[in-house]
Amino acid sequence: SSFNDIKLTEIIRSNIALTRYDRPTPVQKYALPFILSKRDLMACAQTGSGKTAAFLVPILNQIFEQGPIQTKSNPRGRNKQYPVALVLAPTRELATQIYDEARKFAYRSRVRPCVVYGGADVMSQMRDLSRGCHLLVATPGRLADMIDRGKIGLDYCKYLVLDEADRMLDMGFEPQIRRIVEKDNMPPTGQRQTLMFSATFPKEIQRLAQDFLDNYIFLAV
Ligand code: AMP
Repeated sequence: SSFNDIKLTEIIRSNIALTRYDRPTPVQKYALPFILSKRDLMACAQTGSGKTAAFLVPILNQIFEQGPIQTKSNPRGRNKQYPVALVLAPTRELATQIYDEARKFAYRSRVRPCVVYGGADVMSQMRDLSRGCHLLVATPGRLADMIDRGKIGLDYCKYLVLDEADRMLDMGFEPQIRRIVEKDNMPPTGQRQTLMFSATFPKEIQRLAQDFLDNYIFLAV
């Protein structure tokens, strides 16, 4: 099978060609059609399986299909950004890898990806956000901080990904994740598309999936 068997917009097609991925990995092959059909998804997949492209490609494809991205103006907070897609990841390393991949797939499009993570200068991250942010990759602690500072609003966030969800819980991020997803004005389950990726599927992850996902598909690869 090839990426040509999957219905994708021209811009994402040409960006996939530039990455030189010629055939989808198993998680990409199975997850892409479900995500394109707007279903929520819980996928058990390891690092190295190609899971990053498995969620970035269909999310970006849906954003491109929706046409020009509207910049939401905010009368009270200057430079507040309202991403349409949010990817939560446990570490700076993983967040950076996802961001690098997002830049490849968003190349020559109107979608501007950004990344924020802890342990690095918050001012330079805020400066970068102020240039525009449509797809945000973030670690939960730093994102919660950016929300408190009024730099990020999730009111228009239609796509949410929790990557390596089991590692985020192991690192103690559950309170921040719940705060971000449940209380900060993110559209509720059913009005957003939510995708969870995890290497393992213990009780705590099952509970999170129950709380965050709507009528979801379970995929193990
Ligand atoms: P991930 O599991 O998302 O961290 O991806 C692991 C590695 O596989 C990354 O270096 C990707 O660039 C690469 N990769 C992802 N999808 C494909 C593909 N379809 N063909 C070749 N390489 C890929």
